[in-house]
Amino acid sequence: MTTRDLHTLTLTEARSALDRGQFSAVELVDALLGRIEALNPALNAFVTVTAEEARAAARAADERRAAGRPLLLDGLPIVHKDIFCTQGVRTTCGSRMLEDFVAPYDATVVARLRDAGAVMLGKSNMDEFAMGSSNETSFFGAVANPWNHACSPGGSSGGSSALVAGRLAPAATGTDTGGSIRQPAALTGTVGLKPTYGRVSRYGMIAFASSLDQAGVITRSVEDAALLLTAMAGFDERDSTSIDEPVPDYAAALDGDVSGLRVGIVQQHFDAGLDAATGDAVRAALGVLESRGAILKDVDLPNIDLSVPTYYVVAPAEASSNLSRFDGVRFGHRAADPEDLLDLYCRSRGEGFGAEVKRRILTGTYVLSAGYYDAYYLKAQRVRALIAEDFRRAFGQVDVIAGPTAPTPAFELGAKTDDPITMYLNDIYTIGANLAGLPGLSVPCGFVDGQPVGLHLVAGHFAEQTLLNAAHSYQQASDWHTACPEAYA
Ligand code: GLN
Repeated sequence: MTTRDLHTLTLTEARSALDRGQFSAVELVDALLGRIEALNPALNAFVTVTAEEARAAARAADERRAAGRPLLLDGLPIVHKDIFCTQGVRTTCGSRMLEDFVAPYDATVVARLRDAGAVMLGKSNMDEFAMGSSNETSFFGAVANPWNHACSPGGSSGGSSALVAGRLAPAATGTDTGGSIRQPAALTGTVGLKPTYGRVSRYGMIAFASSLDQAGVITRSVEDAALLLTAMAGFDERDSTSIDEPVPDYAAALDGDVSGLRVGIVQQHFDAGLDAATGDAVRAALGVLESRGAILKDVDLPNIDLSVPTYYVVAPAEASSNLSRFDGVRFGHRAADPEDLLDLYCRSRGEGFGAEVKRRILTGTYVLSAGYYDAYYLKAQRVRALIAEDFRRAFGQVDVIAGPTAPTPAFELGAKTDDPITMYLNDIYTIGANLAGLPGLSVPCGFVDGQPVGLHLVAGHFAEQTLLNAAHSYQQASDWHTACPEAYA
């Protein structure tokens, strides 16, 4: 292993090489910072690079290792989606509204990973306030997909997915409200894990739709996702929706044994909206699980077709409330020379927010307004309960539900920007898990015309171990996740 190859290592590989003293954390971090400098201009995956802080943290990790006291993730590089507050480093949420915002504290996810020794390389680009499926709504510009620079890396965690696929870092955090970890993972050939709602603290994660948002990770191997989840998960008294459940050592418990695992197939996930070649790749992946002993079984989610319309009432409603704090007074961009208070609010919000965010705020305000509340918001909440009940019943019959992560491989930048409804349909297979609060994971399962596609797995509440084990078993039998875009090898 020369220092020229350090970017090819997964977290798990880098950790054992560091333990063996093959290279130092400083060398690893330097190698990646060099790649970021060389390759990020074409990708635009970073909003901020924290080179000096990263070198200092790597030095500290090397010292702990030399003293024989390494932490769980000591010296392992990571990038945080720019939705997580980082003390002393700006947190933009992809918005002009927060272009200069520096949080006075760390998000719990950031603090826990740092306390486990992980080294932050910077903050990744994202759709504005995590609203989008292509990373094109970012104030800082679109992100390119390393597999084809003309294509989107997915969104909203598009910076995270692109930089992991391009091996600018072995791992990045993400957030998933309707699919924003899993869809970009699928479109870049990476692993994306969205844990159970409440498994990981949302403290310090800028809120989009609080009842749906959940933090997770994008990595290349399932093992790495398991390793990071162990460090991130757990109760946090500062997030009243985080749940006090013990955190297992997810990575240690991966055995890849899926014999007898009941895998549910939902017919609607393979209907006319699914690209045919993507469907073939997913069916082949299901065949692999079956050949390893899993039992495939049809299951019914009778109300799943209502998940996208339900989400696009609930999520904007919550967003319209959450984003009211960005008014130029409490938080965010302040317009110059206001005539009066109303002018200050209107122009600050008008200038600070982009078009998609405004669309969501308008929709959300509308569905919550007196006279429409019952017809839209309340009805959506009822349908949400039905969808959650469908999953509950299905998980009485199967252990995981498997299908495609996204209906198509990566699409060209600009292809869907004028058609919000088509853009929203990107998450048609992932949104159900958010509405029901369930964990979901995307694992690379093939290529269509040179672009990666993903297999999507969903499990019952707090069954992350089952999910990770099924995906790990699949990775043991496949090598899609080791493929690398040519220019990034
Ligand atoms: N694409 C969906 C949206 O635009 C989901 C985004 C997300 O999961 N943050 O709302």
